[in-house]
Order: sequence, then structure tokens, then C-alpha cells
Amino acid sequence: MKNQYLKQIKLLYGDELYLELSSNSKNITDVSLPSIDYESDLNSFHKQINQCQKCSLAKSRNNFVFGVGDQNASLLLVGEAPGEQEDIKGEPFVGRAGKLLDKILLAINRSREKDVYICNVLKCRPPKNRDPFPNEVNECEPYLLHQINLIKPKLIVALGRVAGMTLLNVDKSLKSMRGVMHDYNGTPLIVTYHPAALLRNSNWKPEAWKDFKWIRSIIE
Ligand code: URA
Repeated sequence: MKNQYLKQIKLLYGDELYLELSSNSKNITDVSLPSIDYESDLNSFHKQINQCQKCSLAKSRNNFVFGVGDQNASLLLVGEAPGEQEDIKGEPFVGRAGKLLDKILLAINRSREKDVYICNVLKCRPPKNRDPFPNEVNECEPYLLHQINLIKPKLIVALGRVAGMTLLNVDKSLKSMRGVMHDYNGTPLIVTYHPAALLRNSNWKPEAWKDFKWIRSIIE
């Protein structure tokens, strides 16, 4: 019972435990907590973590945006973080950029229900859509890793520079990350344009289309 309680606390609040010791609160990070048992199917995992309070984004979110799609997908698309529409609906890529993404997927004979899973590095919306802070990525990335373990995609596609840099842990331009097969904890990873960038500059669409033809050739 106590063990279960500690596991839940660790899951929701992270590794740092604060105990009230007389009048001083002491940070006891060296306390040995049990390692977390994440649920072994995606729906249960979603239920397990959707009340997460590990970072301050929990306070401003409307919805925890876990992910959507085919649990056995060969293609996993990873964006940066939910935007306004996603935060309202609780689903990734449902705004204008998402509509374009749906069209791109259709062009490679896929959809968010068919052989594709879509999620973000961060599961909660950063205020005013600012870039994710490193501590937010650190707290949230284990969730993405577990999603990848469960889905076992053949290929991960990072959508946009921020998602690419975050997953690859580098500070590089999109140009230098594109066109290269990377590795994300053992899974091949490609970086391409964020659909919102394609909406801003349609001159990039032919290059993005080249990427998606390459992506199709890998997952087929
Ligand atoms: N941009 C992202 O990176 N993710 C979303 O879910 C929506 C917009």
C-alpha cells in the first residue's frame, strides 16, 4: 500500500521528495523510491499519467495531450508540444497545421487511424506556445520513451526544428538535421518540416514532399 502510494507520488511529481522536518523542509533526493511500473498498454498508460503534475505546465493546461492513432503503427510522428486547439481538444495536431498534416498523410496512403501514431515531446501546452524549457522536456520525455516502447514504430519522424533538436539533444538548424537518418534510442529517426512552417512558407513544400516520399519508402 505504502509502496503503491510512493509509486504514484513519483509518477506524478517526479524524483524529488520533500519532507516536512520540524520547521525546515529538506530535499531528500537520495531517498530510494521504487522504480516506476508504467502500464503495458497505451490506453492504461494514458490513464496512468494524465493527471501528471511534474512540471508547471500542469497548472495552465486544459487537457493533457497524450497522442492519437494506431497503436501498432510503423510510423510515429512527433511534434513539439500541443498548441491552443490541441490543448482545448486534448488531441495533437488538430489545428490548421494538423489539417495539412492529414493531407500529407493521405498522400502517402496513411491517416491518423491507419498505420500512424501522432504525439508530441511535451504533453501539455506551454503558455503562448513558447519553446519547451529543458526541465519540461526532462520530465516529459520518459512518457514519450514509453510510448515508443509500446508502439515499436519502424520509424520516428520529428516534425520541425524544435522537435528534432529536442529528441536528438543537439542545437542545429533544420537544414543540417534533414536528409539524415538519425537514431533515437535504437529507433531510426528522420527530421522534416513542421506543417506550420509549410503553411507559412509554401516554397518548402516540394522539399517536404521529398522527405515524405523517403519516409514512405522506409515504412512500406
Ligand atoms: N504543433 C505541434 O508541434 N504539435 C501539435 O500538436 C500542434 C501543433
